[in-house]
Amino acid sequence: MIIGLSNIAFEYRGTIQDIIWLFYPGAELVAEDRGDFSLHLNLGNLEELFAEAQLFAKDVSLAQREEGQPITPEESPNELKRLARMAVYKLLVSYSRTNPSPWGIMTGIRPTKVVHRLLDFGWDIELVKNYLQNNYALRQDKANLITSVAGIQRPFLLSKEQTKKLIAIYIGIPFCPSRCLYCSFPSYPIKRHRDMVDPFLKALLKEIQVIGEAIKSQGLLVQSIYLGGGTPTSLNYDKFQLLLQAIQQYLKTNHTLEFTVEGGRPDTLNDDVFALLADSGVNRLSINPQSMNQKTLDIIGRAHTVEDIYDSFESARKYSFPTLNMDLIIGLPGETVEDVARTMNSVLMLKPENITVHALALKRASILKQRLAEFPLLQAEEAVAMWQETARGAAVLGQQPYYMYRQKQMVGNLENIGYALPGHECIYNIQMIEERQTIIGLGVGAGSKWVDPETFTLVNEYNAKDPRQYVERLDQYIARKLQHIGELANA
Ligand code: SF4
Repeated sequence: MIIGLSNIAFEYRGTIQDIIWLFYPGAELVAEDRGDFSLHLNLGNLEELFAEAQLFAKDVSLAQREEGQPITPEESPNELKRLARMAVYKLLVSYSRTNPSPWGIMTGIRPTKVVHRLLDFGWDIELVKNYLQNNYALRQDKANLITSVAGIQRPFLLSKEQTKKLIAIYIGIPFCPSRCLYCSFPSYPIKRHRDMVDPFLKALLKEIQVIGEAIKSQGLLVQSIYLGGGTPTSLNYDKFQLLLQAIQQYLKTNHTLEFTVEGGRPDTLNDDVFALLADSGVNRLSINPQSMNQKTLDIIGRAHTVEDIYDSFESARKYSFPTLNMDLIIGLPGETVEDVARTMNSVLMLKPENITVHALALKRASILKQRLAEFPLLQAEEAVAMWQETARGAAVLGQQPYYMYRQKQMVGNLENIGYALPGHECIYNIQMIEERQTIIGLGVGAGSKWVDPETFTLVNEYNAKDPRQYVERLDQYIARKLQHIGELANA
């Protein structure tokens, strides 16, 4: 499909492109009046805020006008963009006679961040819900969901004063036993890349030591640590022990409320590893089956069985980790609603304190993207039915949704959502999504978010995704982080 955008300024094309693709995924957008239909956009200015979208097809022309007011004067430029997106969205709903997303025009933003901003202005929940439905075309159930999630998160959000002191640490380990079909993370099958392990670990231990010492000397406090990747437990026992010792020595203190480890794959876990994790103060452990169906595990490239997941989970319980998490994915190749129901029945037996449900997102870096012809993606209705199965299971366990985010190209236009028993919410996940806390990323592919405590605006920086580049550029990454740490301490 081809859609003409002849009179739409370049900076507005980006903002309406996501909206057009909700209705016509992958449509080619051209800067002239041709194709299946053309869209025009007439915009007001910062004093007079309006957007009028027009659609011209062979036998029909339609128009939609939106007018609005910013909540504060500084928000006028963003308000103009929102009006443009709303005008195009409503126009395409009329033209296509479909309403493709329960999230309306909330694409490419973190929905709960919008809610927190409105709550900061003192708005009450009902007003926020109405605003979301009227100004973002959110369906009522999604407005209810994000306001309820935001309500659970409020006690965890930092004040400006706390943002000057409390930080989080993310550590990225880029190795796994094998590469999953859908994976887009920096992850190298460890047996094939043994030569990378020692140089990487040496560099990481140096980064942990230098940054840990700077954090302490500047009086910053580490609230949470998240050891992910990759699968950190794919390192052999001795190397993993070295890593955990360094974390304890340089990063973890009495102020550290949470220490999460992604034990992702059951084939990397055993009693020795569990004992080491427990002794190192890990209080949240993730064992991530994604599915409890053997045929799916085989298709996605896991080298373990469903039985292994049960065994790992039951062994982990012996070490009394306060929170066990399970990650699941909706929309895995070949899965049906019945498969997801079967997975949820197994999860109900294992009773984790957290369940994190991801809707499959097709990523450029994944093998799945290259093999799409073999594994067609789900229809939206099926994805929604699967989502309902997982929500039902979480409710049976007494868990509530406590964090969520959306990505592009998710099956069924759904969301990723974390459920937790009250008191077992993952602090790191909340802070990472709501972006009011500085997160320092160490290791391969690790992102740092440097938050300005006055404005909650942030600067994102990343370590290289390739372990060799990470090792080469380590001193550069450390120097940049030391500078940011100094700035934060003096804020
Ligand atoms: S376990 Fe996670 S990080 Fe490792 S290959 Fe699979 S999806 Fe990627």
